[in-house]
Amino acid sequence: MEAGDSVLSLNLTMSKFYPSLTPMKRNEAALLREHGINPSAQRVAVAQHVLHTGEHPSADEVWKRVRERFPQISRATVYNTLNLFVDKGLLRRFVLVEGRVVFDPRVENHHHFLDEESGMLHDLPWDALEVSGVTQLKGFDVREFQVVLRGKKA
Ligand SMILES: [Zn+2]
Repeated sequence: MEAGDSVLSLNLTMSKFYPSLTPMKRNEAALLREHGINPSAQRVAVAQHVLHTGEHPSADEVWKRVRERFPQISRATVYNTLNLFVDKGLLRRFVLVEGRVVFDPRVENHHHFLDEESGMLHDLPWDALEVSGVTQLKGFDVREFQVVLRGKKA
């Protein structure tokens, strides 16, 4: 296999992975192990609630959902697990507005639209918008960027 082939196959794997985030069941324990995470029952429960959602839940929202099946799970455990998932590249942490941190299972680049009436955050494909000049900003070394549009859904 040539060096270029492995890059291509990686891209194909990622694009296959993406649609599976929605309704298809994956083996969360295996997924956690692949990312170097020891899959305890509580971590698997958190993964089931956060890695397959099309939403952008806050830590408290995840905690509330996981508690329905694991009534004894603590808030701290859920917070720590979410942060671990972020560190391992399974989730992105995203400060939506001041004081509201949400978690995003789509780790590839995309933009967001915040519906100010419902508070819902919608994903927008990366190529739906064109942003220019990011790399030419003087004095700033940009690591990543994304656009948050605000308004109401028509
Ligand atoms: Zn998103």
